[in-house]
Amino acid sequence: MNVLAIGAHPDDVEEYCSGTLAKFATQGHKVFTATTTNGNIGSATLPMEEIARIRKEEARQAAAVIGAEYLCLDYDDEMFFETREARIALINLVRYCKPDLILTHYPHDYNPDHELTSKMVNDIAVMIPIAKIETPNPPCEKIPLLAYWEPVLSINFNPTEYVDITDYMDLKREMCNKHQSQVQWMADNYKEQIGDKQKNYFDDIEIIARFRGLQCGCDYAEGFIMAQNAYRMTTKRVLP
Ligand SMILES: [Zn+2]
Repeated sequence: MNVLAIGAHPDDVEEYCSGTLAKFATQGHKVFTATTTNGNIGSATLPMEEIARIRKEEARQAAAVIGAEYLCLDYDDEMFFETREARIALINLVRYCKPDLILTHYPHDYNPDHELTSKMVNDIAVMIPIAKIETPNPPCEKIPLLAYWEPVLSINFNPTEYVDITDYMDLKREMCNKHQSQVQWMADNYKEQIGDKQKNYFDDIEIIARFRGLQCGCDYAEGFIMAQNAYRMTTKRVLP
């Protein structure tokens, strides 16, 4: 299979589905990661262009850990809007990857870029094979299946699918840790909300993966819900 994980910001994919992506890649599937924005507000000190460049390079390096290719639509962080141009750009990106399965944000999350990325990915899934919708990359033969990963901090999310990532937890940690530019930024920016105890904001990933593992009888897991829409249903288990 070809598997594409589309997040809003560089680091979203790594936090919530990189264990599953690592498992897919190890099993021989072709994996792509992508973001709709370039993360260009993710620093208190660096110019926007500089932090965007750094974050895209971090995402590229994280993808490279599992031999995946990273793509970015380069919209401004927190300024991703539903436009004709954005729809076409997203269709073109998906067509490049020819995915059998797309992983993306859950429709209800804490951040508008996350929610809109989720909505637009679901919206355009059915448009991928339509030849009359012209993009530089040609139409694909089929509509990809779609699975949602957890919203940030897993609030109001009950997975219906679990992936045992116990053997891939080290790769997940390695992929998350490529995003070093975000560790201090997140600690400073969300200090009031997360408190001093959480020294590294990737700590939450450890807790959530362990918690999901507890629920499904393994050490570490990632949770998903398959999209429930026409033309995206299947009788098969597609997650690894
Ligand atoms: Zn994000």
